[in-house]
Amino acid sequence: MVIFKKTEDIKQYISLKNTTGSKTGFIPTLGALHDGHLSLIEKARQDGMLVVCSIFLNPTQFNDKKDLEKYPVSTDDDIALLVKAGCDVLFLPSVDEIYPGGADNMPTYDFGYLDTILEGANRPGHFKGVGQVVSRLLEIVEPDNLYMGQKDYQQCMVVRKLLELTGRNNINLLICPTTREADGLAMSSRNRRLTEPQRAIAAVIYQCLVSIESKQNNAELSVVKKECEDLLAAKGFVPEYIALADARNLTLLDSYEQDTPMVALIAAKIGEIRLIDNLLLTDSR
Ligand code: AMP
Repeated sequence: MVIFKKTEDIKQYISLKNTTGSKTGFIPTLGALHDGHLSLIEKARQDGMLVVCSIFLNPTQFNDKKDLEKYPVSTDDDIALLVKAGCDVLFLPSVDEIYPGGADNMPTYDFGYLDTILEGANRPGHFKGVGQVVSRLLEIVEPDNLYMGQKDYQQCMVVRKLLELTGRNNINLLICPTTREADGLAMSSRNRRLTEPQRAIAAVIYQCLVSIESKQNNAELSVVKKECEDLLAAKGFVPEYIALADARNLTLLDSYEQDTPMVALIAAKIGEIRLIDNLLLTDSR
């Protein structure tokens, strides 16, 4: 694996590879890598891509500065995992490299409705930061395929919109399934911060998502949501939202809707740690 810290160097390397016919598959990350990230690397490898991963703890997408300060950093371990996973290129830029004139001078994008709900409503400025960093990284890497995790469902929709807004319709956005621990907890870098007792009950978020799915044909959504709220609270979680939405555009739903593809989404905090997860509902009728 080749590691680049400078924009010009990675650009030159990738364009040279492109002249010999290679296609670039890009996986942007914040680091503290786990099997969820590695599943994206594996998918890009299977697709025959030149696999490019970035590790950049982007300050502008952290609306909560404490969350940024406490975000796990394990670059040496990450590099070892990427080598083992068969990643070809790692981009490890500094903040100045990504935002040469300062982040305030970077273009921002209007995600409209998507920025007003769920993560957008609960983390003001978060998607503005995501838009800034992803557009800059795409400008540098110019990938053919962009691999992102369904774990961050709303982020995938924001990035889809970003590709539209920036005219980068030539990039294929591939949304990859969420990798879970054996008990169902979605893998996340933030899980590292859970204490043992917190970790032992953290799969309750996934259990709630499964119950929203399994009760879709025999219960009122409001009742199921209240049960989830109570269950999360009983385990010590403070739910931020428990939502059902149209999976195509994230229009929030007040009730289960037949013939609408649906996604259930939850954000909840335990202590200072905020976890999110979602589940696409399959029709069990
Ligand atoms: P992050 O480092 O959290 O920004 O994540 C980098 C990429 O990995 C994003 O596209 C995430 O959606 C994806 N990702 C994070 N966790 C998982 C997971 N458990 N399964 C699949 N993809 C994930």
